[in-house]
Amino acid sequence: MRTPVHLPTGGNSWNLLNEWYHEEHDYEWMKRHRSSRAIQPLCRALLGIMSMIFGLTALVKLVGPDAPPTTLGKYLGAIVVASCFVIAGLWFTRPFPGQRGLIAFAIFADIGLAGAVLMVTDRDSATFGCIAFAVSGTYATLFVSAKWLLGHVAWATGVSIIVFVLAFGAGTVDHSTLLARALVLFAAVTLLPIFSHLTWRMMYRDARESDHDPLTGLFNRRGLDAAVTVLFDQARDDAWCLAFIVGLIDKFKLVNDVHGHPAGDRVIQRTANRLSAHLGQRAVVGRVGGEEYLAVISGPPEMIITLTEGIVPALSDYPDPIRTTVSVGVAIMPTESKAWTGGSSAISVASNVADSMMYQAKAAGGNGVRTTSI
Ligand code: GH3
Ligand code: MG
Repeated sequence: MRTPVHLPTGGNSWNLLNEWYHEEHDYEWMKRHRSSRAIQPLCRALLGIMSMIFGLTALVKLVGPDAPPTTLGKYLGAIVVASCFVIAGLWFTRPFPGQRGLIAFAIFADIGLAGAVLMVTDRDSATFGCIAFAVSGTYATLFVSAKWLLGHVAWATGVSIIVFVLAFGAGTVDHSTLLARALVLFAAVTLLPIFSHLTWRMMYRDARESDHDPLTGLFNRRGLDAAVTVLFDQARDDAWCLAFIVGLIDKFKLVNDVHGHPAGDRVIQRTANRLSAHLGQRAVVGRVGGEEYLAVISGPPEMIITLTEGIVPALSDYPDPIRTTVSVGVAIMPTESKAWTGGSSAISVASNVADSMMYQAKAAGGNGVRTTSI
């Protein structure tokens, strides 16, 4: 089921912070959103380079004059260096990660940095080293939820405090210099990530809303165009079938006339939820008109047939107080279809064919599905 788009609930800062903290983080959005997809290769390259820089820094420290004195320390250092290079390799070669990969990298970076700044025996340079938390903070700002970001900030601030207390105890730097460094660090490591995350998530929300229908949380036409293009390319690469499905609620005007507009809205929402639930997470589902939906799903032929045949009962076979039926048109593009070569024009051709199939189903009295192959 799609997450409905939430409009901001109030005008004061407390509400804003509350919404920011509780907002569900859509980790897959980055992969779907049109302009984000273009930025992804750059992000992966940058994160790969960052991992290599951290690996090289750790290597320099490991072979330098203040290398860890114990064998255990040397082993740990070697593990950190190797892990940084392996992770850099993953950033360069693997597709952009999902939720688990993104969070795992944040945890790895924070634990690695904490180990590094706490193990450095020269406490003065350790205080400088804490600025590396600003780098992991920028990563957390861009890629993880508010709760994980706050976890990062608490960790980075806590570790930095310990490092500064140790430096204070060592007494190699005068206290006013240490205090000045601590204040700069507080701005860069504690305050800036929170402020940046809040700002970026508000902008993200605007970008997300521009792709989604606020009533149902489904894609609107704009979001659908982008998401279908991605699905189309994936299906072609994986040699899967694609099904374009157009659904229209029958006699919907009557629902509004008899039960009122709010009841009509609830029927639109419930149909949207059922359509999403029936087609599953792999489908791209949008609302393209008042009571009209367009969905596209890719997969093996048997799965596509089962899903499209079951769509009418999945939307209407419920003992609802306001019962509605749907007319559904389906255009299936099998693996061997010639339409694949058409790219974006194939998408509009398939949508139009599904639309005319839907009108055939409606002309036959509604509450049914008409399917064709293109
Ligand atoms: P048919 O069986 O031929 O599809 O007839 P219909 O009554 O379903 O179709 P028609 O196109 O005549 O009416 C659609 C109605 O949907 C008209 C419009 O006021 C209403 N509508 C459009 N958007 C919304 C909405 O967001 N909420 C509600 N409640 N109604 C909407
Ligand atoms: Mg209708």
